[in-house]
Amino acid sequence: MEPTLFERIISREIPATFEYEDDHCVAIRDIAPAAPLHLLIIPRTPIRGIDAMADDHEQLVGHLLNVGRMLAERFGVHSSGYRLVTNVGDHGGQTVPHLHVHLLAGEPLGAMRTAHGGHSGTAIGRSAAYGGAGLLRDAGITILLVVGLAAVFNAANPRGIPWVKPTYERLAMTDAELQALLGGKPTEEYTPSTNQAANQNNTAVPSATSAGKPLANEPQQRTDPSQPADATPKGDAPKAATTPPSFQSQPGVVREIGYDAFVKVLETPHYLIDARTAEAYGKGHIAGAVNYYGGEVQMHIPAMLSSVPRDRVVVVYCDGGAECELSHHIADALKGFGYGPILIYMGGWNEWVQRGRK
Ligand code: 5GP
Repeated sequence: MEPTLFERIISREIPATFEYEDDHCVAIRDIAPAAPLHLLIIPRTPIRGIDAMADDHEQLVGHLLNVGRMLAERFGVHSSGYRLVTNVGDHGGQTVPHLHVHLLAGEPLGAMRTAHGGHSGTAIGRSAAYGGAGLLRDAGITILLVVGLAAVFNAANPRGIPWVKPTYERLAMTDAELQALLGGKPTEEYTPSTNQAANQNNTAVPSATSAGKPLANEPQQRTDPSQPADATPKGDAPKAATTPPSFQSQPGVVREIGYDAFVKVLETPHYLIDARTAEAYGKGHIAGAVNYYGGEVQMHIPAMLSSVPRDRVVVVYCDGGAECELSHHIADALKGFGYGPILIYMGGWNEWVQRGRK
């Protein structure tokens, strides 16, 4: 028998973001989240669905629900509420024939679906429903034509508008998370402003869209703005000044950060992405940033996968604003490929310039 999609994910043949694993099941992020938090809790045993459940699966199915409860607590949605649901068969909307429980949370999920396509239940009801068929049909055809044309235009346009506005996880980074990311407390020995070799490693490598400037022309990320860019270690540099904080990979983690946190993160190994248009990037960008336009994220995925390193925190920015959609597009794409932590500098280029930084 062919392995199911989820067996291939569990065996790591197909990438996914794993949030939990034990001997009996795993939990991954859903590739097309239907809520800000959408996990799939999947048994390692490939049972087709609840309809194929045997008596001796009772404990396993209970375990899946218990893991759902535990993950809801871990993700801090247990008090706001959540939904644990499993779909069965065609009418249940099951698309993957390997039992799984959806954990959905992060916003009011509404009542369970109640509309069911105007099913009237009686012949009279049905004929009444189709009463004005001629008029409705003409209107329907016109609407279909217009929508079809718009869809074709949209699909052919690289800057097409997504039909459904994606919902993004919008979590601000906490002080504790920032502290952990920066390596607990930055050690006294780690003095990045005297450590140019480490700084060079910290600097993102410009891509083909980096306005054609070679890396050498880019100002290096300086870790201490009071130091000149070309500061070299003096004879009595503090000892053991070469160990930057160690990087802890956290796949799938996306956090929004402000200016102060951004400045601190720039002092550690990072990869900086400018999610604005190539034109805006060409006019000015934060030193060391690579340009991947967030409005064309699908187009950039191959390049990002080959150039964005997995052993650094990735920071994305755009112009700045309440939503930072372009940065979230990039972050979400990277998150889907197991990158993390990915930070979004919400103030973006506008704030950076206002603060007199370049
Ligand atoms: P179902 O429709 O069977 O109840 O749920 C299947 C779920 O699996 C859907 O929500 C769908 O988005 C998700 N899914 C389908 N393919 C993949 C994949 O390759 N990776 C991940 N992470 N989720 C997937």
